[in-house]
Amino acid sequence: MISIADNVKNVSQRIQKATKLASRDENSVQLLAVTKTRSPDELKTAIQSGLTQFGENYLQEALIKIDALQHYPLVWHFIGPIQSNKTRAIAEKFDWVHSVDRLKVAQRLSAQRPDNLKPLNICIQVNINDEHSKSGIPLADLNELAESIAALPNLTLKGLMTIPAASQSEDDLRNSFKEMHRAFESLKQKHGSVDTLSMGMSGDIEIAIAEGSTMVRVGTALFGKRPVPTN
Ligand SMILES: *Cc1c(COP(=O)(O)O)cnc(C)c1O
Repeated sequence: MISIADNVKNVSQRIQKATKLASRDENSVQLLAVTKTRSPDELKTAIQSGLTQFGENYLQEALIKIDALQHYPLVWHFIGPIQSNKTRAIAEKFDWVHSVDRLKVAQRLSAQRPDNLKPLNICIQVNINDEHSKSGIPLADLNELAESIAALPNLTLKGLMTIPAASQSEDDLRNSFKEMHRAFESLKQKHGSVDTLSMGMSGDIEIAIAEGSTMVRVGTALFGKRPVPTN
């Protein structure tokens, strides 16, 4: 039996150790619990273990959990691919979006963000290994998109997100993270609101933190293996 509470402790210790090893402040890395396919009850267990930030990939599934858990003070992050006809619900229900990779989507999110809510926090997704199948922009296009997003009234440009190619050596992965960190530092110089580098997942928390991640997105190491999709 896996215990989510034990897993939370274990992942927190991994983060703690990795920050220490990198001579970084323990609080400089946030843990985002990735909860796609997980039930509201599994999320409740994670909440009881102290987690407050949750990342979801699929809108319909997310909306059910956001509604079921609305009485908890949680921060919701949308981290999946965005169809432009789904932006309204994202703008209304989420606090963060990590997967913005085109201006049209950013414009819609800004226009559809309700006036009574704080600006939506935005990370631009970078396709660091130029994979054809993946979402995200090449680094060459970053400055232009960042400037356009920073000018939108109901968004706050917070930083960058990446999902590196799965099949690469540890050295190549480290280099991808290093490249992201350089881009992040240079973006910070240009935009005072930027403070978030969303990179690192269950298998590479340590490498990501060594290379400057400020937010790791962790699913499997907290909740166990996800069921294999049947579609
Ligand atoms: C599923 C997912 C994760 C979590 O991956 P694990 O390997 O289960 O930790 C992180 N980021 C994104 C964008 C995801 O879709």
